[in-house]
Amino acid sequence: MSIFISREACVGCRRCVEACPGNLIKLDADGKAYIRHPKDCWGCTSCVKECGREAISFFLGADMGGRGSRLTTHKEGDFRYWKITDAAGLEQTIVVNQKDANRY
Ligand code: SF4
Ligand code: SF4
Repeated sequence: MSIFISREACVGCRRCVEACPGNLIKLDADGKAYIRHPKDCWGCTSCVKECGREAISFFLGADMGGRGSRLTTHKEGDFRYWKITDAAGLEQTIVVNQKDANRY
């Protein structure tokens, strides 16, 4: 599993650097985030959720759309929006009310 970081969207805030439990993300000389060892990423999505610029997208496995599909996310109030974009640009969004998400 791995992620893609957009140099254009990254503003170098370091939130993803702090969030990655594997210490896999660094900033380059231009202050842009990059992943050092993509193969070591285990897909926890912490960096994807932490980035306030939606600069990080997560490559989905074949069982979740695969074939170039990417997952991005942003939060608005209590709601988290997970957007899946396939290789053809088709988008699907899943909305989670985080206020209710932990109720069993
Ligand atoms: S959290 Fe997003 S904007 Fe901030 S350094 Fe990481 S990729 Fe760049
Ligand atoms: S998905 Fe998790 S393990 Fe992979 S780079 Fe992001 S924070 Fe690190």
